[in-house]
Amino acid sequence: MLDAIVIGSGPNGLAAAITIAQAGRSVRVLEAQESIGGGTRSLALTGPRFIHDLCSTVHVLVAASPFLRTLPLQEHGLEFVHPDAPFAHPLDDGTAVVVERSVEATADGLSGKDGRAWRRLLGPFAARGGDLMDALLGPFDPRHPPRHPLLLARFGMHAIRSAAGLARSAFEDERTRAMFAGVAAHSMVPLDRAATAGFGLALTLGAHAFGWPVARGGSQRVADALASCLRSLGGEIVAGHRVDSLDDVPPARAVLCDVTPRQLLRIAGGRVPSSYRRRLERYRYGPGVFKMDWALREPVPWTAEGCRRAGTIHLGGTLAEIADSEHAAWHGRVHDRPYVLLVQPSRWDSSRAPAGMHTLWAYCHVPHGADVDMSARIEAQIERFAPGFHDCVVARHGMGPAAMERRNANIVGGDIGGGASDLGQLFTRPVVSLNPYATPLDGVYLCSSSTPPGVGVHGMCGHYAARAALKRTLR
Ligand SMILES: Cc1cc2nc3c(=O)[nH]c(=O)nc-3n(C[C@H](O)[C@H](O)[C@H](O)COP(=O)(O)OP(=O)(O)OC[C@H]3O[C@@H](n4cnc5c(N)ncnc54)[C@H](O)[C@@H]3O)c2cc1C
Repeated sequence: MLDAIVIGSGPNGLAAAITIAQAGRSVRVLEAQESIGGGTRSLALTGPRFIHDLCSTVHVLVAASPFLRTLPLQEHGLEFVHPDAPFAHPLDDGTAVVVERSVEATADGLSGKDGRAWRRLLGPFAARGGDLMDALLGPFDPRHPPRHPLLLARFGMHAIRSAAGLARSAFEDERTRAMFAGVAAHSMVPLDRAATAGFGLALTLGAHAFGWPVARGGSQRVADALASCLRSLGGEIVAGHRVDSLDDVPPARAVLCDVTPRQLLRIAGGRVPSSYRRRLERYRYGPGVFKMDWALREPVPWTAEGCRRAGTIHLGGTLAEIADSEHAAWHGRVHDRPYVLLVQPSRWDSSRAPAGMHTLWAYCHVPHGADVDMSARIEAQIERFAPGFHDCVVARHGMGPAAMERRNANIVGGDIGGGASDLGQLFTRPVVSLNPYATPLDGVYLCSSSTPPGVGVHGMCGHYAARAALKRTLR
């Protein structure tokens, strides 16, 4: 009998398996798809020599992860490439606000008072960026004090606010406010909601402390490096093996599920006690995404020079426009001018496209499960800040929520976060519990981004779930 089976080979599944293998226990990962990696897969979506990241592409959280940072992933083939600047926010006047690697350089690019405000707000946290990310991605256990409690408390005072509220009170210039709205909108939560400022601040601090790199050769390299690390520790991975029922899983003392609550209910069937079932049924999923990838004959012709230096571009104009777009997706409306997150990896990683050509990655938020083609609306937002973009396109590929979910069952209704990340579910996912990874089923654990600390390629959900399994089941 194996010590552990992990269902799903996303970054959390692989991190869980590595943690178990590091403890000297036997472990096998079962993955439904033919290729491993979940949200870190790359595929030739537009043509044989173009490498596109199906889901995640910017790996600030791999760099910042307290667990992944300890693994020798470079020795297993992972190399990060850093764009000149982490992200930029173009505006209709043809300029862009740029967030640079350093607080100082970013502040220098903002209007006088906002430059000072940026130094005051971000400077002290950026100086301790590593400690802060350790605390934010640390174990969430109300019984024990968090790491770096004072730093976390100071950060929490700002983070608990709404992004719109913080942007309006901290910054004077509409341009700075727009830039902050652009980074906070990664949360997929309306920007007038509590704790959305936390997303913006954490991601910006991540940019200052670790950069927003991409993986040379595509995000698949993250998955492949984790898989290679796991195999070097004796772990096994079987792709093309979908688990439809826990009854069909090979005998093992512990089963760790890199799936969301809805899938757990399905594969565990009648074994789930009714009270836990009811609590999982109340788990809320968030808006979906419409994802696009392009093959380009030349780089995007941004009007603003700052956008040519940045890896990630947030498109959507002012704070008011972005807030309106995010409010619409959350409340089930399709917006005509959606907020778009765009990444141009091949500007710094030439291995992603044939010589001289490029790849481009973008998505916008849409209502949960929406069956709508956003291609024209996304391209109109790019054209707005880069006239002539259409002439650069060689091929395009679009996927709405249903297509995303077909490629990865965890993307329920197009929700890329494994469940809504509003304040009500940010820490208490999937249920309010002192051990959110354990389930009432003997030896069965949840280890996906539907557990703390939630969305992103950091592997911490898997790592903490595996630690819980090692402590309770695999002693
Ligand atoms: C479009 C998009 C863009 C994103 N951008 C970023 C980004 O730039 N940076 C970032 O940090 N994060 C990003 N994310 C989020 C990130 O990808 C996820 O938070 C992360 O992958 C979650 O990891 P996970 O291991 O919990 O689940 P997943 O990565 O979703 O993996 C789950 C795995 O389980 C498998 N599985 C599911 N059910 C079964 C079953 N019954 N049997 C066997 N296998 C099963 C799936 O096939 C999948 O391989 C993005 C996500 C998407 C979709």
